[in-house]
Amino acid sequence: MTEDTSKDDVHAVVTGGAGFVGSHLVDELLADGYRVTVLDNLGSGRRSNLEHISSDHLTLEIQDIRNPLPSFDRIDEVYHLASRASPTDFRSHAVEIALTNSEGTNNVLSLASEHDARILLASTSEVYGDPKVHPQPETYNGNVNPRGPRAPYDEGKRFAEALASAYEQQYGLDIRTVRIFNTYGPRMSRTDGRVIPTFLDQALRGEDLTIHGDGSQTRSFCYVSDLVRGLRRMAAEERSDLTGEVVNLGSTAEISIRSLAETTLEVVDSESSLTFEERPPDDPEVRRPDIGKARELLDWEPTIPLEEGLERTVEAFTAR
Ligand code: UDP
Repeated sequence: MTEDTSKDDVHAVVTGGAGFVGSHLVDELLADGYRVTVLDNLGSGRRSNLEHISSDHLTLEIQDIRNPLPSFDRIDEVYHLASRASPTDFRSHAVEIALTNSEGTNNVLSLASEHDARILLASTSEVYGDPKVHPQPETYNGNVNPRGPRAPYDEGKRFAEALASAYEQQYGLDIRTVRIFNTYGPRMSRTDGRVIPTFLDQALRGEDLTIHGDGSQTRSFCYVSDLVRGLRRMAAEERSDLTGEVVNLGSTAEISIRSLAETTLEVVDSESSLTFEERPPDDPEVRRPDIGKARELLDWEPTIPLEEGLERTVEAFTAR
């Protein structure tokens, strides 16, 4: 007899499940037989990210997590991803972002607590700010400007981690935290504002690629399917040893933004030129995760090289 590994009666709530990362996670949970409820206010998430799914195991509730959350009979797992995450939104939606990550996170943790559900908290490399330690290990406490333009998101996520730790200490919740570094792939909006969709969109339209500053600042870009595999491993039920842990997930292939622009032109086979614009304040100079902990605890590392991930993203962008 084969072992039944189906999650047929397991109910997962995914906040931000209509978003870029969230919708890919929902695909994987449904494929494993989960019942999934997505809570999303469709602020940066989009209904179209879930439109390919016909499963009656999926429920989409249009819900802003800053407001009181609906009641459920049962919740086994909560994946808390809801928040705008593009730096172009940090100014235009500053208060929303700060409160989604503070009040909203409190509502989500409180809901999980009522059901004694396991929680995967999506944090961010932004908790390291403009890092003075490179690469960034989980033990680094960061260099964040609490009053700068990135503060609503950066400090919001730092507070979300602090609040999660408070729930752990006071109520013994099973919370696992991932710090997600730059991630890209299909279902990012071409107008999202983040660098990869922006460069791809510009290259596909034959417009100049807009480099902030001289493009010497670095990032490392992880393809979304690699990230989602890491999220699933971190949330695994049988891994009670992961309770209370925080783990970086991201690519270690560090690249300058100028090289990213050049790679984009090659992948798209575009004749576009590069233009140089003012660098936004507090834009981190370097960023690359130390993923030693993810390797050790989760046997995880990214597998999709940048060029391949960009090609897949172009395909999705041109098919939409
Ligand atoms: N960037 C750029 N041109 C753009 C958009 C972004 O040069 O059109 C730069 C941005 O200033 C930053 C890097 O690309 O140095 C990554 O930006 P993104 O908004 O993708 O995410 P971040 O890593 O800053 O959160």
